[in-house]
Amino acid sequence: MSVLDFYRRPLRNLRISVTDRCNLRCRYCMPEAEYVWLPRRDLLTFEEISTLVDVFMELGVNKVRLTGGEPLLRRDLPELVSMLSAKPLKDLAMTTNGVLLAGHVEALKKAGLNRITVSLDTLRADRSKTLSQRATHPSVLKGIASVAPAGFTDTKIDTVALNGVNDDELIDLIEFGRTVPAEVRFIEYMDVGGATAWSPDLVLSRAEMLTRISAHYGPVTPLPNPDGAPADRFALPDGTTFGIVSSTTRPFCATCDRSRLTADGLWYLCLYAMEGVNLRDPLREGATKAELAELISGAWRARTDRGAVDRLAERDRMPFVPLTALKRDPHLEMHTRGG
Ligand code: SAM
Ligand code: SF4
Ligand code: SF4
Repeated sequence: MSVLDFYRRPLRNLRISVTDRCNLRCRYCMPEAEYVWLPRRDLLTFEEISTLVDVFMELGVNKVRLTGGEPLLRRDLPELVSMLSAKPLKDLAMTTNGVLLAGHVEALKKAGLNRITVSLDTLRADRSKTLSQRATHPSVLKGIASVAPAGFTDTKIDTVALNGVNDDELIDLIEFGRTVPAEVRFIEYMDVGGATAWSPDLVLSRAEMLTRISAHYGPVTPLPNPDGAPADRFALPDGTTFGIVSSTTRPFCATCDRSRLTADGLWYLCLYAMEGVNLRDPLREGATKAELAELISGAWRARTDRGAVDRLAERDRMPFVPLTALKRDPHLEMHTRGG
């Protein structure tokens, strides 16, 4: 039985950021020239992460996603995957930028990872370089090409759709997805902490995406979404599916069962939460699993967060967290929190 929050949303999905470091500098996530990093001594060990996952599982978590920063920058990640895949989870997935994927994909499969999502915003190397501020596009494509041969299925490609930047590639990306094979999910640009370059003009809305996709392919059919997953899924006339995560124009907070654990053990109940619950200190001070469960369930029961819905009500919307606040507390950054 899952613990329910104030709005009766279950505690079910846990996203674990295994590092705040990244080898890209995507302009919608890490646009700044410099960042404040988490102290290395604070990073949870794999044993500590495993203990916390046990506690979360007792309270209803059955899906875990490893993320970051770039999760493949965390040394020996397959070891953590092995520890987690030994637990009776319904799903153990990872989101990666794909740069280092080809070199790790087999070890990840062997360690028991279920599914991989690769972020890919463009099929054009020059555009990728401008967007991610690194020339890594060939490695990303190589990473994506390595997923199916390693035995992974149900692969996803996540694309942040940006007006005037990659909005002319919706069709090309869907076509590319078919060849991988992978389901492409277009994500609306969010004004989360760290997205200091955000502006409403850059958001390509769900409605606009659907108009453009159906203008090309013909009518698209909405598919049922039984799990309350964030992506609305659609089928093209030939049955090819794609998703849209409309966090900005049509948020899905009402069914949100996700929370996020940072690499240094702070637990955030919402992507937009200003404060997290410190699980690292009690863990290191010898708290029992029962005491940790009490702390976690108490916080979840009191959860009233609906960050993206609250943002929607904002007039003259600007980046959510000012740069000065991000410098004071890197936990406010999307790349620290684990997107
Ligand atoms: N580095 C890995 C990657 O890029 O896949 C994992 C972490 S990244 C923070 C997770 C996801 O968050 C990526 O798919 C990325 O595109 C998305 N993301 C980051 N900033 C975003 C923003 N401002 N709006 C929407 N999605 C964003
Ligand atoms: Fe890009 Fe992911 Fe790195 Fe953010 S964490 S800069 S989205 S690769
Ligand atoms: Fe969940 Fe917060 Fe995102 Fe809403 S804004 S979907 S409550 S994480």
